Amino acid sequence: MSKSIRNVLVVNAGSSSLKFMLFNMETETMLAKGQVERIGIENSLFTYETNGFSEKKSPCEAPNHTAAIELVCNALIDANKGGCLSSFDDIDAVGHRTVHGGEKFSAPALLTDEVIAQIRDLIILAPLHNPASLQGIEGCKKVLPNVPHVGIFDTAFHQTMPEESYRYGLPTALYEKHGVRKYGFHGTSHKFVTQKAAEILGKPLDETNVITCHLGNGSSISAIKNGKCFDTSMGMTPLAGVMMGTRSGDFDPAIILFLLKQGYTPEQIDAMVNKEAGVLAMAGNGSSDMRDLVAARDEQGSKEAKLAMDRLVHSYTMYVGGYIALLGRVDAIIMTGGIGENSDKTREALLDRLAGLGIKYDHDKNVELRFGKGGLLSTEDSTIPVYVVPTNEELMIARETFELLSK
Ligand code: ADP
Repeated sequence: MSKSIRNVLVVNAGSSSLKFMLFNMETETMLAKGQVERIGIENSLFTYETNGFSEKKSPCEAPNHTAAIELVCNALIDANKGGCLSSFDDIDAVGHRTVHGGEKFSAPALLTDEVIAQIRDLIILAPLHNPASLQGIEGCKKVLPNVPHVGIFDTAFHQTMPEESYRYGLPTALYEKHGVRKYGFHGTSHKFVTQKAAEILGKPLDETNVITCHLGNGSSISAIKNGKCFDTSMGMTPLAGVMMGTRSGDFDPAIILFLLKQGYTPEQIDAMVNKEAGVLAMAGNGSSDMRDLVAARDEQGSKEAKLAMDRLVHSYTMYVGGYIALLGRVDAIIMTGGIGENSDKTREALLDRLAGLGIKYDHDKNVELRFGKGGLLSTEDSTIPVYVVPTNEELMIARETFELLSK
């Protein structure tokens, strides 16, 4: 690439939303951020922040993703809105969060027509997410045609898993014909906190073994061996693994056959296990949010909320415990994501369950390490150190975009 890369725009497109952040990569500082919501729906909403300027505008013109990105780029160069940039030419590259890279992408990729066609071929594996990523990519390419666009895949970091981790005990033909295997998700976050953990521990990345717990509305836990993903809790889809806000996590797959025989349609089952399950289904207060769950348990004394919390933490414990066994030596357990970074009550519940393995933590530190504050949570005599490491997926996408284009 001839032009040096300074400002990288990070775009995370959903089916009706587009989140963005602009970074200066010389200093790795965030220059602007915001989102367009309700794209293609009436009363679209634009939220924007830069240089001490902030705005929330609704309705705004966002009939499609191209219009949404136009709105973003016009705000970035608007002198009356903080004047973040002077022209579109100040955007040197765009990094696109792309959910499913299948087995094709184990690293960031320049979004050529061929790569875009490959992402389209992968829609079968991510029928909701990849079309949204493609809408974002195509919209941005129209508005910024002369800028390199890079795809950063949620699945890429997990491509180092050995076959014993990613294969299911199913006929090989399903893997060969249909790509039925574990892919894993949240890879950008697991990678970011793994690198941070190696730095904190003062170890070379390729000698670092950690368990990374990305706990949010969607959650996954990964076993990292020598700096690379060895196993992860999500599967072919993000439904597998630990219990989540609205996803069930692991359950007996024969239940789906049972429900089909009872007359439920595949669409009903899909909605039930992905959007109506997990904390939402069990908590009894109509919420999937951890803050509401803890309040219902501790302030209202709800038995259902207590059971939901116990079930959730039970599932975390099984993965962390299992991964300790798989890795043999664990240099640190890392907590991240909305819950991992902020919910002291959830960390407390998980770490109490791990006490039998000699994992000990400081109760005051546990309360202190929240709201973006990371640090060591465990006591000196803990068999495995435990850290809170705030994740930064957007910065990781900007870094990976920058690194690919600077090669
Ligand atoms: P996702 O990116 O998967 O949508 P997040 O990583 O933002 O989710 O995490 C959302 C979860 O984090 C919610 O369950 C929310 O309740 C929880 N969370 C956020 N802030 C706090 C807090 N201060 N205390 C407890 N839980 C919190």
